[in-house]
Amino acid sequence: MHDAVTEWISNNREKLFQFVQHLIQIPTINPPGKQYAEMVEYLERKLQQIGLETEIVRVPDAMVEKQLGEAFLSFPRYNLIARWNAKAPKTVLFNSHYDVVPVSGKWKHDPFRGEIDDKWIYGRGSADMKGSLAASIFAVEALKTLKIDPLYNVHFALVADEEIGGELGSGFVVKNKLVEPDFVVVCEGGSAKKIGIGHNGILQLNIRVLGTSTHTAYQQKAVNSFLETVHLVEFLEGFFKKILADPKRGYVAPSKEKLKPIVNIGGVVSSGPGSKVNIVSSETTFTIDRRLTPSEKMDRVESEIREAIEKWAKKRGTKVKIEIIHKTEPCALGYNSSFTKSFKSAVEKIKGGKATFTVNRGATDMHFFVKANNCEAIGYGVDGKDIHAIDEKTSLEDLVETTQVYATFLSSPLS
Ligand SMILES: [Zn+2]
Repeated sequence: MHDAVTEWISNNREKLFQFVQHLIQIPTINPPGKQYAEMVEYLERKLQQIGLETEIVRVPDAMVEKQLGEAFLSFPRYNLIARWNAKAPKTVLFNSHYDVVPVSGKWKHDPFRGEIDDKWIYGRGSADMKGSLAASIFAVEALKTLKIDPLYNVHFALVADEEIGGELGSGFVVKNKLVEPDFVVVCEGGSAKKIGIGHNGILQLNIRVLGTSTHTAYQQKAVNSFLETVHLVEFLEGFFKKILADPKRGYVAPSKEKLKPIVNIGGVVSSGPGSKVNIVSSETTFTIDRRLTPSEKMDRVESEIREAIEKWAKKRGTKVKIEIIHKTEPCALGYNSSFTKSFKSAVEKIKGGKATFTVNRGATDMHFFVKANNCEAIGYGVDGKDIHAIDEKTSLEDLVETTQVYATFLSSPLS
């Protein structure tokens, strides 16, 4: 019976492609967060046409100001919740973010038109993650059109701001209990025959090394923040080398992929206000981008870095300030529940062959839902290429198949 669903999706693929094109044509670039209102209104109309209840929730200005600063007040944040309550005992939530990263470089295909050739759809967001967002809605449209009851109540959380950490998107949605699912399909963080069951964590720090500002000619007693930074960075290189080699911090995914903890020191380096060639540097700032595997704990990783730097600073007599730019908890979940099993079986049915479970090297919004709802989740979406890069694209065939996977998961009981 449910082959009718996959058939309907296949036969209506042009409609799916147009839907993705339309989403790409609303350039929800973040930062700063453009055209969010237009996006949620468009999606709301679409979901209402299909027959879902919808709710657009605007993040209060005070929260936007606190989280992002005053400059963002002219870019309001919206999250869209949609519900199909099918009188089922359990609820599955589809989560997608609708924001996209800015565009740079020379594109062959207009980043905001959604150009299509015989294999691909191009554009910012085609892969990350408007393609998957459209696929999840289209899967539900297929069920609704064919009057097939889903096995679960199907809810959507279509959110802002994943690309800048998600606090006002998925973070806001879970904190305000706008959704309380039993199982979450985060529509990214796995693709093709790999299903995501977790992701790495991120800890990004800004390290400010302070000196004294003096003219080059009178520098006898000055502290040169740049030279102090050189010493500190050398110290940190040794510190991280030891930490990152600890085998207990590595993580092996069920797919046998091995994840290791990583660090990037000095992605951004800058000198403080008033820096000039003839002035001793009074402030030097550099960043640390530390990626945590699911075997590591955020609190411990943060405090070990703080303690190491503070100890170094005390010994050397240098002033150092540590600021947090961004934090995302790592997470890794079990994969033996009936939800994950039936998702895996849907992937295997549509894609053929065996599917495996993996952990995503980048972070997604999964950790928000898992922590707040104590629920299970998987990450799965389209198999895109050149994410965050030039000529981002997603395969048309895979877009159709991902939609079929979602629809099959929602309608085929485990045999
Ligand atoms: Zn994404």
